[in-house]
Amino acid sequence: MSKCYLCDHFKVKATFTIHTDRCRVECPSCGEYTISESVRSAIANRPGWGEQKLLLAKAARRNFDANTVLELNTEDDWLEALRAEAAKSQG
Ligand SMILES: [Zn+2]
Repeated sequence: MSKCYLCDHFKVKATFTIHTDRCRVECPSCGEYTISESVRSAIANRPGWGEQKLLLAKAARRNFDANTVLELNTEDDWLEALRAEAAKSQG
């Protein structure tokens, strides 16, 4: 059993695809998102990541509710998702 990368929920289903390093995560809390190996290792050592990942968890959920899948495949992807979600949270 895996743990959600964004909200630490324990009951997630993580599917690793064979040909890419991307992992598709189905989380009861965040919904569904994809996250790559490079992003997973980048965020693991990131200062202030605790707060950022809460924002990304919300972003994933928001996307999921809108029937889209949040894709965190590059560093740009998650920085962009973070910016968008921070802007929405303030407004
Ligand atoms: Zn989650």
